[in-house]
Amino acid sequence: MSPANPIIRVENVSKHFDTVAALSEVDLFIEPGEKVVIIGPSGSGKSTLLRTINRLESITAGSIVVDGFDLYSPSVDINKVRMEVGMVFQSFNLFPHMTVLRNLTIAPQKLKKMPVAEAEAMARRLLEKVGIPDKADVFPVKLSGGQQQRVAIARALAMSPKIMLFDEPTSALDPEMIGEVLDVMAALAREGMTMVVVTHEMGFAREVADRIIFMDGGRIVEEAPPAKFFTAPEHPRTQKFLEQIL
Ligand code: ADP
Ligand code: MG
Repeated sequence: MSPANPIIRVENVSKHFDTVAALSEVDLFIEPGEKVVIIGPSGSGKSTLLRTINRLESITAGSIVVDGFDLYSPSVDINKVRMEVGMVFQSFNLFPHMTVLRNLTIAPQKLKKMPVAEAEAMARRLLEKVGIPDKADVFPVKLSGGQQQRVAIARALAMSPKIMLFDEPTSALDPEMIGEVLDVMAALAREGMTMVVVTHEMGFAREVADRIIFMDGGRIVEEAPPAKFFTAPEHPRTQKFLEQIL
């Protein structure tokens, strides 16, 4: 599948760690506003693929163009790219010595030279949006895992990214907190954000994804809209994986 005007264009990408082929000849084109969910067994290359879209990883072959930036060309301004692509990890990675508000304002102030009043007003709007407007002045250690992850999402949004990447954002959470984080992500999806999400939450995948990508052994084995993916997967490896998890 090759949309007319992709905002993310991954072409023939391979990535080796010594002898391990983490990615082999991956092609992936994502349209603006599209929601793509990536699933697959542990070690199949999901995180590596996501990380290459933010150039957190080098690649061995191929090319990745994000919103017109050729990520692996020597002349690319990687800081500009990273402002456009927000990323949320399994471990929340908040700055522990800063209040929640400061976690949200520091990057816009430093990287975008946003005035403090403007940054703080935006941060408060974002905390409202992720459902914790009352936590602005507390430190991350005082928050539950679900609240910390919602702060991490708000912090990524504070840079006004065009694309959000999520790498198993709920995998480190207690079960009762998974829903509140998925709800924030679903709301973001409804607003039209371009999202690439690695997750094991199949309910979320079914409801939010435009397209599901199944990876195994560093390759995209199958991709389809959720209705087809979950009811009529074509590849035996996809069928086996779904049998194991559903
Ligand atoms: P997934 O996210 O699907 O579990 P990863 O992308 O993390 O898979 O890993 C894909 C493969 O690359 C695995 O075999 C993993 O061991 C290997 N790998 C990932 N990161 C590194 C690294 N920094 N050094 C060496 N091998 C790595
Ligand atoms: Mg991973």
